[in-house]
Amino acid sequence: MSATHRPCPLCHTDNASAPPSPFSCDPWTLKACSCGMLYLENAPSYEALQDTFAWEKTAAAETVRREAAEPLVQTVSKAVVQVRRKVSRGDKLTSMIETLFPDGPVVDIGCAKGGVLRRISATEVIGIEISQDLAKRAKANLKHKNCRIIHADALRGMKQLPPASIAGIVMSAFLEHEVQPATLLTEVNRALIPGGRAIIKVPNFACWNRKVRGRRWCGFRFPDHVNYFTPDTLRRLCGLSGLVIVRFGWLDRLPTNDNMWMVVEPAGRTAPSASPRT
Ligand SMILES: [Zn+2]
Repeated sequence: MSATHRPCPLCHTDNASAPPSPFSCDPWTLKACSCGMLYLENAPSYEALQDTFAWEKTAAAETVRREAAEPLVQTVSKAVVQVRRKVSRGDKLTSMIETLFPDGPVVDIGCAKGGVLRRISATEVIGIEISQDLAKRAKANLKHKNCRIIHADALRGMKQLPPASIAGIVMSAFLEHEVQPATLLTEVNRALIPGGRAIIKVPNFACWNRKVRGRRWCGFRFPDHVNYFTPDTLRRLCGLSGLVIVRFGWLDRLPTNDNMWMVVEPAGRTAPSASPRT
Protein backbone atom coordinates (compact mmCIF):
# COMPACT_ATOMS: atom_id res chain seq x y z
CA MET A 1 0.00 0.00 0.00
CA SER A 2 1.42 3.37 -0.95
CA ALA A 3 1.67 6.02 1.75
CA THR A 4 2.71 9.65 1.63
CA HIS A 5 5.23 11.02 4.13
CA ARG A 6 3.83 14.33 5.36
CA PRO A 7 5.33 17.30 7.09
CA CYS A 8 3.02 19.21 9.45
CA PRO A 9 0.04 20.39 7.40
CA LEU A 10 -0.11 23.66 9.36
CA CYS A 11 3.52 24.89 9.78
CA HIS A 12 5.27 22.50 7.31
CA THR A 13 7.85 21.30 9.85
CA ASP A 14 9.12 17.82 8.98
CA ASN A 15 8.72 15.83 12.21
CA ALA A 16 10.30 12.62 10.79
CA SER A 17 12.78 12.37 13.66
CA ALA A 18 10.21 13.16 16.38
CA PRO A 19 8.75 10.23 18.37
CA PRO A 20 5.23 9.10 17.42
CA SER A 21 2.31 10.44 19.42
CA PRO A 22 0.94 7.91 21.96
CA PHE A 23 -2.36 8.16 20.04
CA SER A 24 -0.75 6.39 17.04
CA CYS A 25 -2.20 3.05 15.93
CA ASP A 26 0.29 0.72 14.26
CA PRO A 27 1.11 0.96 11.32
CA TRP A 28 -0.32 4.50 11.34
CA THR A 29 1.94 7.13 12.89
CA LEU A 30 0.50 10.30 14.39
CA LYS A 31 2.85 13.21 15.08
CA ALA A 32 2.16 16.05 17.51
CA CYS A 33 3.87 19.11 16.03
CA SER A 34 5.18 21.88 18.28
CA CYS A 35 2.72 24.25 16.53
CA GLY A 36 -0.21 22.39 18.14
CA MET A 37 -1.24 20.27 15.15
CA LEU A 38 -1.70 16.49 15.46
CA TYR A 39 -1.55 14.70 12.12
CA LEU A 40 -1.05 11.34 10.42
CA GLU A 41 2.50 11.29 9.08
CA ASN A 42 2.18 8.25 6.76
CA ALA A 43 -1.17 8.99 5.12
CA PRO A 44 -2.55 6.61 2.46
CA SER A 45 -2.19 7.85 -1.12
CA TYR A 46 -5.20 9.28 -2.96
CA GLU A 47 -5.23 6.11 -5.10
CA ALA A 48 -5.67 3.92 -2.00
CA LEU A 49 -8.43 6.21 -0.74
CA GLN A 50 -10.40 5.70 -3.94
CA ASP A 51 -11.01 2.08 -3.15
CA THR A 52 -9.06 0.12 -0.49
CA PHE A 53 -9.55 2.79 2.17
CA ALA A 54 -12.72 4.34 0.74
CA TRP A 55 -14.46 6.19 3.54
CA GLU A 56 -17.66 4.16 3.42
CA LYS A 57 -15.70 0.92 3.86
CA THR A 58 -13.47 2.05 6.73
CA ALA A 59 -16.42 3.72 8.51
CA ALA A 60 -18.52 0.55 8.31
CA ALA A 61 -15.62 -1.58 9.57
CA GLU A 62 -14.98 0.87 12.42
CA THR A 63 -18.64 0.79 13.52
CA VAL A 64 -18.56 -3.02 13.68
CA ARG A 65 -15.29 -2.96 15.64
CA ARG A 66 -16.58 -0.36 18.15
CA GLU A 67 -19.87 -2.16 18.69
CA ALA A 68 -18.02 -5.39 19.45
CA ALA A 69 -15.49 -3.68 21.76
CA GLU A 70 -17.88 -1.41 23.69
CA PRO A 71 -21.52 -2.35 23.08
CA LEU A 72 -22.91 -0.20 25.93
CA VAL A 73 -21.00 2.95 24.92
CA GLN A 74 -22.13 2.54 21.31
CA THR A 75 -25.79 2.08 22.32
CA VAL A 76 -25.68 5.19 24.52
CA SER A 77 -23.92 7.33 21.91
CA LYS A 78 -26.46 6.32 19.22
CA ALA A 79 -29.27 7.32 21.59
CA VAL A 80 -27.59 10.68 22.30
CA VAL A 81 -27.29 11.39 18.55
CA GLN A 82 -31.00 10.59 18.07
CA VAL A 83 -32.05 12.86 20.96
CA ARG A 84 -29.84 15.68 19.62
CA ARG A 85 -31.48 15.34 16.19
CA LYS A 86 -34.95 15.59 17.73
CA VAL A 87 -34.04 18.55 19.95
CA SER A 88 -32.38 20.51 17.12
CA ARG A 89 -35.54 19.95 15.01
CA GLY A 90 -33.89 19.26 11.75
CA ASP A 91 -30.56 19.43 10.19
CA LYS A 92 -28.08 22.07 11.35
CA LEU A 93 -26.00 21.89 8.17
CA THR A 94 -28.99 22.38 5.85
CA SER A 95 -30.22 25.37 7.82
CA MET A 96 -26.73 26.94 7.84
CA ILE A 97 -26.48 26.52 4.06
CA GLU A 98 -29.91 28.09 3.52
CA THR A 99 -29.26 31.07 5.79
CA LEU A 100 -25.55 31.79 5.33
CA PHE A 101 -24.84 31.15 1.64
CA PRO A 102 -25.76 33.75 -0.98
CA ASP A 103 -27.69 32.60 -4.08
CA GLY A 104 -25.66 30.62 -6.60
CA PRO A 105 -23.97 27.28 -7.16
CA VAL A 106 -23.17 25.16 -4.09
CA VAL A 107 -20.30 22.66 -3.94
CA ASP A 108 -20.16 19.76 -1.48
CA ILE A 109 -16.60 18.43 -1.11
CA GLY A 110 -16.81 14.74 -0.23
CA CYS A 111 -20.50 14.69 -1.19
CA ALA A 112 -20.92 10.91 -0.56
CA LYS A 113 -24.34 9.89 -1.94
CA GLY A 114 -25.35 13.53 -2.45
CA GLY A 115 -27.71 13.72 0.54
CA VAL A 116 -26.83 17.31 1.52
CA LEU A 117 -27.06 18.65 -2.04
CA ARG A 118 -30.40 16.90 -2.43
CA ARG A 119 -31.88 18.52 0.69
CA ILE A 120 -30.96 22.16 -0.04
CA SER A 121 -32.94 24.60 -2.19
CA ALA A 122 -30.01 25.57 -4.48
CA THR A 123 -30.78 24.28 -7.95
CA GLU A 124 -27.21 24.32 -9.29
CA VAL A 125 -25.09 21.91 -7.28
CA ILE A 126 -21.67 20.32 -7.68
CA GLY A 127 -20.48 17.28 -5.74
CA ILE A 128 -16.85 16.20 -5.50
CA GLU A 129 -16.36 12.58 -4.46
CA ILE A 130 -13.25 10.38 -4.52
CA SER A 131 -15.07 7.06 -4.10
CA GLN A 132 -16.21 5.63 -7.43
CA ASP A 133 -19.20 3.89 -5.96
CA LEU A 134 -20.45 6.93 -4.03
CA ALA A 135 -19.92 9.28 -7.01
CA LYS A 136 -22.20 7.02 -9.12
CA ARG A 137 -24.85 7.00 -6.41
CA ALA A 138 -24.69 10.79 -5.99
CA LYS A 139 -25.26 11.25 -9.72
CA ALA A 140 -28.37 9.07 -9.56
CA ASN A 141 -29.71 10.83 -6.44
CA LEU A 142 -29.31 14.32 -7.90
CA LYS A 143 -30.58 13.81 -11.42
CA HIS A 144 -33.54 16.15 -10.79
CA LYS A 145 -31.20 19.12 -10.19
CA ASN A 146 -28.72 21.02 -12.36
CA CYS A 147 -25.97 18.85 -11.02
CA ARG A 148 -22.39 17.95 -11.79
CA ILE A 149 -20.56 15.19 -9.94
CA ILE A 150 -16.78 15.33 -10.18
CA HIS A 151 -15.22 11.94 -9.45
CA ALA A 152 -11.83 13.06 -8.16
CA ASP A 153 -9.94 13.86 -4.99
CA ALA A 154 -10.89 17.22 -3.50
CA LEU A 155 -7.93 19.17 -4.85
CA ARG A 156 -8.22 17.92 -8.42
CA GLY A 157 -11.96 18.46 -8.24
CA MET A 158 -11.70 22.04 -6.96
CA LYS A 159 -9.11 22.90 -9.63
CA GLN A 160 -11.73 22.15 -12.29
CA LEU A 161 -13.89 25.03 -11.04
CA PRO A 162 -13.41 28.52 -12.53
CA PRO A 163 -12.24 31.28 -10.17
CA ALA A 164 -14.94 33.29 -8.36
CA SER A 165 -17.74 31.02 -9.59
CA ILE A 166 -19.20 29.37 -6.48
CA ALA A 167 -21.57 30.85 -3.86
CA GLY A 168 -21.11 28.26 -1.14
CA ILE A 169 -18.79 25.36 -0.36
CA VAL A 170 -19.56 22.62 2.15
CA MET A 171 -16.78 20.70 3.89
CA SER A 172 -18.72 18.68 6.44
CA ALA A 173 -16.62 15.94 8.02
CA PHE A 174 -14.15 16.42 5.21
CA LEU A 175 -11.10 18.51 6.15
CA GLU A 176 -9.91 15.90 8.64
CA HIS A 177 -9.46 13.54 5.64
CA GLU A 178 -7.51 15.94 3.39
CA VAL A 179 -3.77 15.33 3.06
CA GLN A 180 -3.17 18.93 1.91
CA PRO A 181 -5.72 20.97 3.87
CA ALA A 182 -4.01 24.38 3.41
CA THR A 183 -3.80 23.92 -0.37
CA LEU A 184 -7.43 22.85 -0.47
CA LEU A 185 -8.55 25.92 1.49
CA THR A 186 -6.57 28.12 -0.91
CA GLU A 187 -8.56 26.53 -3.77
CA VAL A 188 -11.78 27.13 -1.81
CA ASN A 189 -10.79 30.79 -1.48
CA ARG A 190 -10.08 31.03 -5.23
CA ALA A 191 -13.38 29.43 -6.26
CA LEU A 192 -15.70 31.55 -4.09
CA ILE A 193 -17.53 34.57 -5.49
CA PRO A 194 -17.34 37.85 -3.54
CA GLY A 195 -19.56 37.25 -0.51
CA GLY A 196 -19.40 33.50 -1.04
CA ARG A 197 -18.90 31.35 2.03
CA ALA A 198 -17.65 27.96 3.14
CA ILE A 199 -18.88 25.85 6.06
CA ILE A 200 -16.34 23.62 7.79
CA LYS A 201 -17.33 20.88 10.23
CA VAL A 202 -14.49 18.82 11.76
CA PRO A 203 -13.92 16.74 14.90
CA ASN A 204 -12.64 18.92 17.77
CA PHE A 205 -9.48 17.34 19.23
CA ALA A 206 -9.78 19.70 22.20
CA CYS A 207 -13.26 18.45 23.19
CA TRP A 208 -13.84 17.01 26.66
CA ASN A 209 -14.92 13.61 25.33
CA ARG A 210 -11.48 13.15 23.73
CA LYS A 211 -9.79 14.09 27.01
CA VAL A 212 -11.94 11.62 28.97
CA ARG A 213 -11.85 8.73 26.49
CA GLY A 214 -8.27 9.18 25.28
CA ARG A 215 -7.41 6.65 22.57
CA ARG A 216 -11.01 5.39 22.52
CA TRP A 217 -12.36 8.79 21.37
CA CYS A 218 -14.75 8.41 18.41
CA GLY A 219 -12.80 11.10 16.45
CA PHE A 220 -9.83 8.76 15.92
CA ARG A 221 -10.18 7.01 12.57
CA PHE A 222 -7.23 5.16 11.08
CA PRO A 223 -6.10 5.79 8.44
CA ASP A 224 -8.79 8.06 7.03
CA HIS A 225 -8.54 10.95 9.49
CA VAL A 226 -5.20 12.56 8.71
CA ASN A 227 -5.64 15.91 10.55
CA TYR A 228 -6.80 16.47 14.15
CA PHE A 229 -7.77 20.11 14.64
CA THR A 230 -8.36 22.21 17.72
CA PRO A 231 -10.24 25.54 17.51
CA ASP A 232 -6.85 27.28 17.48
CA THR A 233 -5.19 25.22 14.72
CA LEU A 234 -8.32 25.38 12.54
CA ARG A 235 -8.39 29.18 12.90
CA ARG A 236 -4.73 29.47 11.94
CA LEU A 237 -5.05 27.16 8.94
CA CYS A 238 -7.94 29.21 7.53
CA GLY A 239 -6.00 32.45 8.10
CA LEU A 240 -2.98 31.06 6.20
CA SER A 241 -5.25 30.28 3.24
CA GLY A 242 -6.57 33.86 3.01
CA LEU A 243 -9.94 33.09 4.56
CA VAL A 244 -11.55 35.16 7.29
CA ILE A 245 -13.87 33.76 9.92
CA VAL A 246 -17.49 34.84 9.64
CA ARG A 247 -18.82 32.64 12.41
CA PHE A 248 -17.08 30.57 15.08
CA GLY A 249 -18.97 31.37 18.27
CA TRP A 250 -18.86 29.35 21.48
CA LEU A 251 -21.93 27.36 20.39
CA ASP A 252 -19.99 26.28 17.30
CA ARG A 253 -17.09 24.94 19.35
CA LEU A 254 -18.61 23.72 22.61
CA PRO A 255 -16.12 21.43 24.39
CA THR A 256 -19.04 19.10 25.12
CA ASN A 257 -19.45 18.43 21.39
CA ASP A 258 -17.12 16.08 19.49
CA ASN A 259 -17.33 18.36 16.43
CA MET A 260 -16.90 22.07 15.74
CA TRP A 261 -18.36 24.29 13.03
CA MET A 262 -16.80 27.27 11.30
CA VAL A 263 -18.00 29.62 8.54
CA VAL A 264 -15.36 31.43 6.46
CA GLU A 265 -15.20 33.70 3.44
CA PRO A 266 -12.43 35.12 1.25
CA ALA A 267 -10.54 37.98 2.92
CA GLY A 268 -10.82 41.43 1.45
CA ARG A 269 -13.69 40.65 -0.88
CA THR A 270 -17.07 42.12 -0.18
CA ALA A 271 -20.31 41.40 -1.91
CA PRO A 272 -21.78 44.53 -3.48
CA SER A 273 -25.01 42.84 -4.52
CA ALA A 274 -25.08 39.34 -3.02
CA SER A 275 -27.25 39.12 0.05
CA PRO A 276 -27.62 36.03 2.20
CA ARG A 277 -30.91 34.18 1.95
CA THR A 278 -33.26 34.95 4.79
ZN1 LIG B 1 3.29 22.26 12.86
